[in-house]
Amino acid sequence: MASIFSKIIAGEIPGDIVYQDELVTAFRDINPQAPTHILIVPNKEIPTVNEVTNADEAAMGRMILAAKKIAEQEGIAANGYRLIVNCGNHGHQEVFHLHMHLVGGRPLGPMLYR
Ligand code: 5GP
Repeated sequence: MASIFSKIIAGEIPGDIVYQDELVTAFRDINPQAPTHILIVPNKEIPTVNEVTNADEAAMGRMILAAKKIAEQEGIAANGYRLIVNCGNHGHQEVFHLHMHLVGGRPLGPMLYR
């Protein structure tokens, strides 16, 4: 079954898409933790970082390049931001379609706070 993120990427369910190309799609998190909270997702459905293969290298690199571009678009590049990829149970991953969080727009504090 397609992940919720695959459905957003395919336009089957609504998503506030801010960037899309042939490898990745980015849309606003439904439950933002900061003024800017965007998810950058490979169009290919890869469950977690553990399933990434060499064939996915271009998409993984594109996620970082998209993050840079979107941070500029959002006006948060100069002040800085945080990129987070959660993996599996201990990483507190909730949606099993690999994604990178782009979080910013305020000082974020230390990375691990609990
Ligand atoms: P994870 O814990 O897997 O790294 O993060 C999953 C993220 O996906 C959470 O921040 C959650 O708010 C977001 N999310 C879950 N379902 C949806 C959805 O249907 N649409 C959007 N835009 N974000 C979602």
